[in-house]
This record gives sequence, structure tokens and C-alpha cells, in this order.
Amino acid sequence: MSDFICAACRSIDFKKILKTPAGDLTVHREKRDPYDRYPDLLLDKDTARFSQLQHNDCSLCTIFASTLCSTEDEWSDPGVVEDASLSAHELKAYSFLRNCAWTPENVQGAEDCYILLATRSSTYNSAGNYAKWAGQGEAGYVACLPKEREAGLFVPQMISERFDSVKARSWLRHCKKSHGASCNEYSEVIPGLEVIDCETLRIVPAEAGMQWVALSYVWGQHQSQDNLGDTEPGVLPSDIPRTVRDTIEVTITLGYRYLWIDRYCINQEDAAKKHDLIAKMDIIYRGADLTIAAAAGHDENAGLPGVGTTTRKKQAIVELDSCTILSTGPDPAFKTEQSRWRSRGWTFQEGLLSRRRLIFTEYQSWFECCEGGWMEALGGPELLNNPDEVRCTSGKIGRSLDGRLLSHHLTSRGLIADPDDRVIATRLDQFAQIVGRYSKRDLTFDEDSLNAFAGVSRHLRDSDPQLSHIFGIPYMVSAPLELGSAEKYMFYFLSWRHSRDSSPRRRPYFPSWTWAGWAGGMGWMTGRLDGVTALEQKMRDIHFEVDGRVVVREAYVDTFDSVSCEIPKSDVILCFEAQVVPPSLFSWDTYEERRDISSDEDSADGEDEDISDEEVQSDDDAPDEEDQGDDDSVNGDSEVMSESPPPDPDDWNTWAVGTNRLWDRAQPPDCDPATFIDNLEKGRWDCLLLGDYNGNAGYSHRRFMLVIEWLENGLAHRIGSVVLNRQHYLDRGNIFFDDTELAWKSVRLV
Ligand SMILES: [Zn+2]
Ligand SMILES: [Zn+2]
Repeated sequence: MSDFICAACRSIDFKKILKTPAGDLTVHREKRDPYDRYPDLLLDKDTARFSQLQHNDCSLCTIFASTLCSTEDEWSDPGVVEDASLSAHELKAYSFLRNCAWTPENVQGAEDCYILLATRSSTYNSAGNYAKWAGQGEAGYVACLPKEREAGLFVPQMISERFDSVKARSWLRHCKKSHGASCNEYSEVIPGLEVIDCETLRIVPAEAGMQWVALSYVWGQHQSQDNLGDTEPGVLPSDIPRTVRDTIEVTITLGYRYLWIDRYCINQEDAAKKHDLIAKMDIIYRGADLTIAAAAGHDENAGLPGVGTTTRKKQAIVELDSCTILSTGPDPAFKTEQSRWRSRGWTFQEGLLSRRRLIFTEYQSWFECCEGGWMEALGGPELLNNPDEVRCTSGKIGRSLDGRLLSHHLTSRGLIADPDDRVIATRLDQFAQIVGRYSKRDLTFDEDSLNAFAGVSRHLRDSDPQLSHIFGIPYMVSAPLELGSAEKYMFYFLSWRHSRDSSPRRRPYFPSWTWAGWAGGMGWMTGRLDGVTALEQKMRDIHFEVDGRVVVREAYVDTFDSVSCEIPKSDVILCFEAQVVPPSLFSWDTYEERRDISSDEDSADGEDEDISDEEVQSDDDAPDEEDQGDDDSVNGDSEVMSESPPPDPDDWNTWAVGTNRLWDRAQPPDCDPATFIDNLEKGRWDCLLLGDYNGNAGYSHRRFMLVIEWLENGLAHRIGSVVLNRQHYLDRGNIFFDDTELAWKSVRLV
């Protein structure tokens, strides 16, 4: 970074803000809006220079403009803000504690400071918490700190060039001392588990009471063959990848001795043992005292930045006469989200199942446990004598990537009256959220589609109420028969769809009727399930067939659940009877002049699956509701209201079945509607009625249909789904098309 500071930046009076404690901003704010929850101090009005950065090499302009970019690219509403280069900008100071996503509200012992943010002058500030959003992206938080200062709790600070093990130890101590069972309940050592003794570099059997660290990292394409053969058995090879070497160092520095790394602790030669361990990843990662995640770089040779020879990227800092302007660097949770580590299938459960994660990014390390998180760029519990002193009356510390997605503590939805129904629906939702996230990950081998998920599967099956799955379609093992019976909800879970931005591809090892049989991000049709009682199944006689034999419901778990089950999964046939929706019911002439708006309860659907994740996690958690609200207002339904385009028969959204328009978030076959109708008429395809959903206290109605293509011998495969969405206020009539007279067909799906 250059030392140059432009005249405009030099004339900013930073002293002005430092005279006012950031915590007093409510009193001294320049705005008079009583509803402004995020008061600010205006520092500079004439800052059009931020948008002409290519002509500007001022170090301050560069820092401030980075905050502007984030608000434009990620958070602004394109309908509100005009062309960025034309608009004037303002530089404003905000209270850090109020705006930082890493600090809980009302935390005691924390010191407030100012963070600076460039926003467009036209931005209606109280409409959104821009300071918070900008900080959660590439920009990070840009703090304005007094020259004379001491490190303080949650105060931004310089990240050291080397990994700060003092901080990491304090994070661990704080979690162990102050957090409850979710962080500190651990699994027993399983027989046959082996770990690396970091002192002797030997592979030793794990023993009861042993504390070990696990590594989660990405194997590169080349997969260097440093197998154990080149040295004596049971000893680490001399030539180990950089990430492994750095992890051994961190393990020792943090006071641990034992380390689990798949490559050395799973005997690749012993297939049976390997299979057994793969099925028990929940125990390995849940049992680890800490998981070190290598989220920088692309493979096992990237190293952990700041530990060995891999250097860290530097945060931006400018020393002025009056103060220090310091960027925390990109939000580490954001960097992790963007990392290759986070994109891979196998690392999904490694991260999700771990109780504590120490994640290394290019800039710094950060810590995430079940209750909260810390990063090196902020003052943390290492500054306190007693970790219990980090007290807050509400809210959690830090950001969380997976949060309580796997929590035993199920959230629930008030709309569902029956408590049993609520528990089951929440459990099924949880499964849907987890699978939705998992499906976005990449796998090198198609046959791993469920293997890389086996640890999560086992964890869910062993939690109460027990949830299993039939090659990816959830199945409640323990639930009242009335609600838990698979027939109640199976049609709903057969009605999955791929995300619009995914390019689905068949995975040959699995049937077409399950998401596991396809590569590509997917999700189910509602953000949340309003109870199993909201579902009305229209299929009948659902069962599975393997090798010509019917699998009875009692045998589902034994037959399908275990990853050690060796039946060729592609041979499992899903059999059922369903009514055929005739092509004559499809029409294109019902186009009405109206906007195709989505009903409110769907705002978390579709491409915004992460938002519904938040909902599921934070339902009963008052402080998080704020985040949820923020996220909603930013990311929510991004469909921009615009003039309706002229009707187009090639557009699936202009088609209807009966009087109801097709729902645009379903996934009809990959062809134009005319081809679809033609195939239905010629009997090559069929559209089958699966069931109805009547959720949101009767305000949301959907009808699910499955499109299949007939193969030989009465077999068929899935090629898409059609969903009708009845909008309570817009659609007349209370029912979907009359299905009483429709003909039944027997289907065997592969
Ligand atoms: Zn400047
Ligand atoms: Zn914890």
C-alpha cells in the first residue's frame, strides 16, 4: 500500500469523532430521526473520488472505497440505487459494537470504537444496517482508533504475521469453561481408531480419555503418494504435505499431542475397516476436541498461513497524525465461505459435526464453536483474567457458518398445533436444510454422493427423534405412526428441485428419484414444513423393491440406511400408484394481467436457501431475529417488480394446469412446454399427481406432480417436477383441478 494520502482525505477531521465516545452516538448524532437504530457521524460529504478509484492511489481512499464496493455489490437494492459512478458518497462513522456482527448486543466489558463506511448520499441509512453488512464481506470493518490505545475486548487490532496461539488457547479455554453441553459433550473413542502421536510421529491406537485434534482439509488433484510404504509401518512418512506439517505444529502449540488425519489414520489397504470408519465420521469429528480446518489455498500443500512457510495476507492500515485507520481484513467467515475447503463434499460433515473449529484463512485464523466465534483481528478473551467475564445479556459472540444446524435442540414453528407434529416437521426441515447445503458441495467421485454424508446420517439417526433416509429421501424411524408414517410425507420429499444456478447431472450409482442420484445444488419446495398434517398424499401403495423382492417398511432401516449396505443402489426401485394428469388439463390461454408475485411465506425459498437455514436455526433465539430480519430485507425476494412481459408460450410460467399457474420455482423437464405436452400426448412421458400441501395456516397451497419418462419393462425414471402454487389473494376458487376422475397408473421408478 502506498503512503500517499490525497488532499481531500487529509482534510477529514477525524479528531472530531474521537472526541465523542462511540457509545454515546445516540445522543450526539447528527441525524434527528428517532427511528434510526444505527446513528452515524458524517465525516466527509464530497467523496465522489471513491467511485473514480482507478485515477486515485490514495491509501485512505482505497480503504474507504472497499467498504463502498461491498455495499454496492452485495447488499444494495438495484431498484433503489442508481449508477454508482453518478452518485455522490458520504463517509460516515458508526459505533462498532452496535454494528459488528461479531459482537453481541449489550456485552459487558467491551470497548466501543468507530468504524468508517462510505455510503451513497442517497442511501436511506435507517432502511438497512449497511455498516454491519459491509463488514461481513470482503471489506471487513474499517476502524478509526486513537493513536494512544490499549487492546480491548472486541476492539479491532493488528493481526500478527504468525498464528497467534495465545488467542487460540484462550478461545478454547473460554469455550470449555463457559459453554454448555453442545460444545463439551464428546463421543467415546471407537475401537480401531488410530491417531498420530505428534511427539513421536507414530500412528498409535486411540485410548479412552485421550484428547485429539482432527484435520479437515482438501486433497488436491495430484494426490501425492506419500503412502506409509516408504518408511517403517506405523510411522509418518518423512515427506508430508505442508498443511499436515503445519497442523502438527499447531496441535503441539495448543497443548495437544494426538492428531487424526484421514490419510494416515484410515488404512487405505483394509477396505472393510475403511468402510467402517467412513460410516463413523460423526464419532471421529464429534469426538475430536478441536478440528483444524485448512480454508486457505487449494490443496494439502497450501499450508496454514502464519504457521509454517505459508505467509499471511496483510490487513490494510494507515497511520495518521490524529489516529490510526485499520481494516480488520475480509471477514474470516466470509473468506471461509468462499474457500475451496467449503466447496468440497467431504469437508461438509467434517465441519458440521465438529464441536470446535479453528479455521485458517489467508489473513487470519478464527474460531467457531457451537455457541459462538472469535477472530484474531479483534480483542478477545485473552485480554481477560477470567473467561467468564465475557458476559452478554443477549446474543451470541461471533459469526457462525453452520450454527446449530445439527443441534439436538430442535426449533419449532408456532403454526403447528400438535406437539408431535411440530417435532417431526422440524426434524424433517432440519434434514432438508442440511441436505440443501450439502448438495451444493462438489464431489470427485459420484459414488460418494451419500458416503460423504454418512457421518451426518448416523448422527441424525442416533438423535431423538430418529431420522433415517432411503438413499436421501428422509424417513422417520421413531415417531407416532399417525404422523411418522413415511406415506405421509414421502411425496413431498420426492418433490425436490435443483437450484436455478446449478447444472444438474446424473450420478449413475443412484436412482433418478433421489437427489443423491444427481450432482447439483437442490432444495425442497417450501422454506419450512408446516407440519406433516399439512400434507395430503395422493399417491398410494408406496414401496421399494430390490432384486424383485418387496422391502417392507419394518426393514427400511436395515435395508437402506447403513452405508455398509452393499446392494447396488441403482437397482432399488421405488414403486407406487398415482393418478395421471392428462395433457388436456395443461393450458396456455389462461394468462391474466397480473404480476406473478410470490406469497410472503415463500420469501425464504428458492435461491435464498441460506436464509431459510437461518430461520431454522434461530427460530427460538430472540437476538438472532434481528439478523434474520436484516438478511431478509436485503437478500429476501429479489424478484424485482416490473412490467409483466408479453405472454410467451415457450415460457413455463405462462402455463397452467386447470386454473392454476405453474410455480416458477419447480423444475419442469428440461425442454420447452410444447415438447413436454407432445411427449405426454404420445405416452412417452407422464405427469403424475403426488400430493398437496396446505401450509401457512391455510394460506399457502401447492400441488406436487412428478414427470417421468417411460423406459422398457414398465420401468420409468424421473425427469422433472411440476408444482402448482395457489395464491390465496390472487387465485379464485379453493381447489386445484378436480382429480376425482383421473386414471391411476402403476409406476416403478429407477
Ligand atoms: Zn484519499
Ligand atoms: Zn463453545
